[in-house]
Amino acid sequence: MDTGSAESRDINGTQSWTPSSWRAKPIKQPVDYDNAQAVDRATAKLRRLPPICTPHEIWRLRRSLADVAQGKAFLLQGGDCAELFDYCNDNAIDSKIKLLLQMSLVLIWGGNKPVVRLARMAGQYAKPRSSPMETVDGKQIPSFRGDILNGYPTDQRAIDPDRLVQAYFHSAATLNYVRAQLSSGIADLHNPLDWNLGHVGDPELQRKYTTIVESIAESLRFMQTIGADTAGQLETIDLFTSHEGLLLEYEEALTRKLRHPPNRNVPAKHKPTPRTSALTGGVLTNPTIKEAEPTGYYNTSCHFIWVGDRTRQPDHAHIEYLRGIENPIGIKVGPTTSISDLTTLLDIVNPNKEIGKVTLITRYGESKATALLPQHIEAVRSSGHGHTVVWQCDPMHGNTRSTTTGIKTRSFASIFSELASAIRIHKECGTYLGGVHLELTGDDVTECTGGSQGLQDEDLDTRYETFCDPRLNEKQALELAFLVAGSQRG
Ligand code: PEP
Ligand code: MN
Repeated sequence: MDTGSAESRDINGTQSWTPSSWRAKPIKQPVDYDNAQAVDRATAKLRRLPPICTPHEIWRLRRSLADVAQGKAFLLQGGDCAELFDYCNDNAIDSKIKLLLQMSLVLIWGGNKPVVRLARMAGQYAKPRSSPMETVDGKQIPSFRGDILNGYPTDQRAIDPDRLVQAYFHSAATLNYVRAQLSSGIADLHNPLDWNLGHVGDPELQRKYTTIVESIAESLRFMQTIGADTAGQLETIDLFTSHEGLLLEYEEALTRKLRHPPNRNVPAKHKPTPRTSALTGGVLTNPTIKEAEPTGYYNTSCHFIWVGDRTRQPDHAHIEYLRGIENPIGIKVGPTTSISDLTTLLDIVNPNKEIGKVTLITRYGESKATALLPQHIEAVRSSGHGHTVVWQCDPMHGNTRSTTTGIKTRSFASIFSELASAIRIHKECGTYLGGVHLELTGDDVTECTGGSQGLQDEDLDTRYETFCDPRLNEKQALELAFLVAGSQRG
């Protein structure tokens, strides 16, 4: 099957694509490096380093996402808003793996479907900002733009190109530890999991969650008893990585022309027009004919890359970059996404309408979702011959508020409310909410209010540790999974 490689798209008559063709386009969130030589040195180094992820892994995720798009699986994506190089340590990584594993088991129980796990980890180092400068202690200083560009301490705000290389090594070390832990049994379901539900004060909720946990444990015991895990499926899990594709100098340097793995075919919805083949000069009418080109461009820095709400203009640099890579991609969709931009974007990044190639990550805010989501669903359904996307709800980014003392937070109730609306609206529209996208941490922080711990605005100071947006703590994240699972069942 033609997977829309850069070459075949060029044959289609669209403008030619290269990993650097984004440079000719206007760009949002640009970076003013004041030392071009240092940037060249850093990117030259990155170009020599080996891929962090491989085409084989990337296509495994693409196949799983094709299942999600068709309602056969569910996608759980979560991690920090801004990952710091400091989070590259065993405790922080272990707690995130365990949390994603536990949440995924709850969601499997809820939806009765496999769950695809995608961490915002091992590369989530670049942050878009509303302003390049901020005021600290009465002084204007550059904003923190993520560890890949500058440091959070106010004396480290100058852009340092060497951080591009540091990002690679922190990303590789994080993923190396994830892979090592997974192959050493951190996610071995033969071992009992510590669910730690003591904080749930409400006896009825406590009973409900305990019943779910017991039911999961019972199912696992049953599978072991009847020997249903002979292929070793209970010993480990798949965990893929993702980040916002914001810093295109970095993404370009890690984009490689590589051989496609065998068996990468995923279903394509439709071939809009017959394509001509440059090699034969003839017309390819059978969409399943394999293209002559055995290679494609892969972003080898992670498995899945998404474009943020601030950088998804159809004629700008970030979309230009994304349209040429083989990886599955995400597009944030918010209150300012017009219907025409949405369908244009899908046609640009997925001209062959490959199922599950694109994940639409909706993030409206609880009060806007009901009005906007149905319109966007309808637009996608009726655009051309229809795209089959993964619909994912990000209930975090439209629900940020400031407390009276100026702390950025989100309430658990608002987060769940947007998620519940998305589940309901997709059901009503006959589409499938395929996933959730969450900012969370395995640590016991106090950044979002609400949940069973009953955190109030006054409690946020206790352990407010995020360097960007507020994250759900371990207990709130698990509780959200219980609630989603409950509404999937009921
Ligand atoms: C994010 O996911 O951290 C983010 C910045 O989101 P958005 O682009 O949706 O605002
Ligand atoms: Mn964020």
